[in-house]
Amino acid sequence: MALQVELVPTGEIIRVVHPHRPCKLALGSDGVRVTMESALTARDRVGVQDFVLLENFTSEAAFIENLRRRFRENLIYTYIGPVLVSVNPYRDLQIYSRQHMERYRGVSFYEVPPHLFAVADTVYRALRTERRDQAVMISGESGAGKTEATKRLLQFYAETCPAPERGGAVRDRLLQSNPVLEAFGNAKTLRNDNSSRFGKYMDVQFDFKGAPVGGHILSYLLEKSRVVHQNHGERNFHIFYQLLEGGEEETLRRLGLERNPQSYLYLVKGQCAKVSSINDKSDWKVVRKALTVIDFTEDEVEDLLSIVASVLHLGNIHFAANEESNAQVTTENQLKYLTRLLSVEGSTLREALTHRKIIAKGEELLSPLNLEQAAYARDALAKAVYSRTFTWLVGKINRSLASKDVESPSWRSTTVLGLLDIYGFEVFQHNSFEQFCINYCNEKLQQLFIELTLKSEQEEYEAEGIAWEPVQYFNNKIICDLVEEKFKGIISILDEECLRPGEATDLTFLEKLEDTVKHHPHFLTHKLADQRTRKSLGRGEFRLLHYAGEVTYSVTGFLDKNNDLLFRNLKEVATQFKMSLLQLVEILQSKEPAYVRCIKPNDAKQPGRFDEVLIRHQVKYLGLLENLRVRRAGFAYRRKYEAFLQRYKSLCPETWPTWAGRPQDGVAVLVRHLGYKPEEYKMGRTKIFIRFPKTLFATEDALEV
Ligand code: ATP
Ligand code: MG
Repeated sequence: MALQVELVPTGEIIRVVHPHRPCKLALGSDGVRVTMESALTARDRVGVQDFVLLENFTSEAAFIENLRRRFRENLIYTYIGPVLVSVNPYRDLQIYSRQHMERYRGVSFYEVPPHLFAVADTVYRALRTERRDQAVMISGESGAGKTEATKRLLQFYAETCPAPERGGAVRDRLLQSNPVLEAFGNAKTLRNDNSSRFGKYMDVQFDFKGAPVGGHILSYLLEKSRVVHQNHGERNFHIFYQLLEGGEEETLRRLGLERNPQSYLYLVKGQCAKVSSINDKSDWKVVRKALTVIDFTEDEVEDLLSIVASVLHLGNIHFAANEESNAQVTTENQLKYLTRLLSVEGSTLREALTHRKIIAKGEELLSPLNLEQAAYARDALAKAVYSRTFTWLVGKINRSLASKDVESPSWRSTTVLGLLDIYGFEVFQHNSFEQFCINYCNEKLQQLFIELTLKSEQEEYEAEGIAWEPVQYFNNKIICDLVEEKFKGIISILDEECLRPGEATDLTFLEKLEDTVKHHPHFLTHKLADQRTRKSLGRGEFRLLHYAGEVTYSVTGFLDKNNDLLFRNLKEVATQFKMSLLQLVEILQSKEPAYVRCIKPNDAKQPGRFDEVLIRHQVKYLGLLENLRVRRAGFAYRRKYEAFLQRYKSLCPETWPTWAGRPQDGVAVLVRHLGYKPEEYKMGRTKIFIRFPKTLFATEDALEV
């Protein structure tokens, strides 16, 4: 069989024109390796590497089929234009090595198979050449691979970027902040053995030479209820088990802790202290070392561990009722450790656990608590202690990541690359305040996503001098407004109710909601529903029609949980979460966005299983078809003239083997020769735009003849 071989001037890559399957071979030091098969021509087997090339781009079935084909071939990455869709393989595919990093450095995004590193490199180059701040937004449901992707990106930058002139330790700190944050903020859940129970936005600052010189982390909504309660099959935050398994004898003795997690009420509720995929002992070593790298002194580590231990002791505090039914602490030993570890007076702590302060006629009075109230107060204290420790930890990491060289000229010209790893849309059997906040957050991010995608499309058309054709799309502003509008939005009404302690309840909040937003097309309650729908709604519930689908929320606990988040100020009361979310949106808006959309292939956390129902849900929640529709509204494919000519010049005698004139003119000659019709393509300033995939495929197929 005769092979036509063409040496491409870059030297390293040889294009082999095989009669049936064009592919590229790379000459490595270890011999010849096949590095790339033309994904376009192998599309029957491995699908298309960019969804914009799907013939039937509005069909959900075609979308899923393409994902399935690629997943079967271990091709977990696919583009929608510049957006990367990633399916968690649940196995180590060996695709994140140093060689892989090198392969994706400095190459054109579309000329290599889709990969996270292609996004990493493109973003980094844009940061360097255009000097514009960038943000990579990684979204997807629990277990979809967001945190893994964030870590791979960080690793890419740590390994491939030049070292800064001074303060090289920042690279290690950036990497080492991860195990620490994960120890305190991640836990085993039913959906993910290492589930992030907080949202994270991390900035990496680069100096003018492109070296990482600093960083900053913002954290969102730590799920602190987990400190005192875990569902069956779930665990508390990793740090507790790590400390008990891995802590030295001496440390545990000082903290008054026993090794066995079963001794601690806060660790036994989920009944799964041991998890086969987790090695708490070795993780402890990693965390311990990481703490040192990020500048924790021995004293600070001791303080930190004292607090972790005090949460466990708090959980073991028991009460008994006296004759007046008032709660009394019966576990003196725990109290003793607590007073020492938290450095508080025993009497103060005893009082705090069994009494509450009330102010009557300007005087402070102590009112005793009953058993139930005391248990509630104890748990509230444990949650508060833990979440404040987490906040302190983030602050401490930030001080360690802060560029030490603020005075140097390079500091003034830093650019920022942000990484957002935030929980995706959540719909459970029972949805509460936490899901409400998370889904609102996703609603905002979706709004931003659509806005920016449209904007960048529009900008590209403008830059290329091609007329923009307006795109119809679902604008979810109406839902964002329903949640966040001043005075009339759900959050405002909730905040208002929280200012009427003693009078307001979760149900009065619901009634107010019903009064204020009754005729909203995206809002429904039992009372407002028609007879048919009413059956599916409980009396203490409201339903929101999110962009991603319907979610029914139970109002139980809304007031209490919102109170936790409130910043009180006499003039304005605004929810901290809403504010921090708005701040996040502002941060993201000021940057050039890149998107990674992660998909979880099955609930069993197993490799090779492609659960179509589950995946279809996620495709919908992530708004991927909408994204594709916007991207495909005008032209399916666009390429720089040079790249297009280089690939297809052999199809036209006038452009083969070389075209001496402008690439744009060469492309014009080439497409005329190929018989492109005027409605099939447009010539921009630097790129050719092709409207339908079939035109491109026909051209691609011609290469094979
Ligand atoms: P959560 O919202 O619960 O934090 P997540 O989206 O951050 O979920 P990850 O923790 O990143 O999910 O991924 C879950 C698990 O899936 C990982 O612990 C790892 O075992 C596996 N995984 C994810 N991405 C990859 C990948 N690219 N290659 C191999 N395994 C992966
Ligand atoms: Mg995560």
